[in-house]
Amino acid sequence: MTTSITPLIAGNWKMNGLMASLSEVQKLAEMLTRGTAPRCTVAICPPATLLARISEMAASSGIVTGGQDCHPAQSGAHTGDISATMLADAGAQFVIVGHSERRAGHGESDDLVRTKAQAAFAAGLTPIICVGETEAERRDGQAEAVVGRQVATSVPEEAQAIDVVIAYEPVWAIGTGLTPTTDDIRQVHDMIRAQLIERFGDSGQTIRLLYGGSMKPANARDILMVENVNGGLVGGASLLANDFYAIISAV
Ligand code: PEP
Repeated sequence: MTTSITPLIAGNWKMNGLMASLSEVQKLAEMLTRGTAPRCTVAICPPATLLARISEMAASSGIVTGGQDCHPAQSGAHTGDISATMLADAGAQFVIVGHSERRAGHGESDDLVRTKAQAAFAAGLTPIICVGETEAERRDGQAEAVVGRQVATSVPEEAQAIDVVIAYEPVWAIGTGLTPTTDDIRQVHDMIRAQLIERFGDSGQTIRLLYGGSMKPANARDILMVENVNGGLVGGASLLANDFYAIISAV
């Protein structure tokens, strides 16, 4: 962990969560209010149907919210899509862009991801830009080359001056219970950091780099101890208040 950066623990609920799930948010809010103040920003990225409700109910506990995707345009004839402006209007502060499930399931390219990040900036949101290699790419020794290329193209030039978060999520670790070794995580995070400093100078030092992929209460502490890991993007373990709180406490 890099101590001068405020870490971020963000929960990605994916396509999970109904009105009944609001009780987990309530429970987490109570845990955060009762316990010692978290040493990180805590965000929940619920499905869009719950965003406004969670933004409202969680505000007093310091939990902030984010969307899981946005369209590059701010409004228009795009049936079924949601814009960054709409997410901001519903109370979001963050938006995940370029998650591997969208890259794979919706054919999203690095160029498209970059335009989504730019739409986030325009709406006053902080994009969480996801990158990560597949299992085959890692097996072929291509992990750093793939991630380096994704960072180079998906992260817009504006990141020099506007807050942006990058989440390294090896595709093979998402939802599988598998995680890279802490040495492997360190290697990729160091490489991303060096690339950001080379491109953006000093501001490359302050961009938050999250790790994501099967982060759980049992492994969070070890992962969060790694230099240049400034928090986590948490899928499955963010759905239950107890697990998510344990990860937040690991910071
Ligand atoms: C994710 O989808 O962003 C993720 C990290 O999922 P999980 O924690 O379930 O692997």
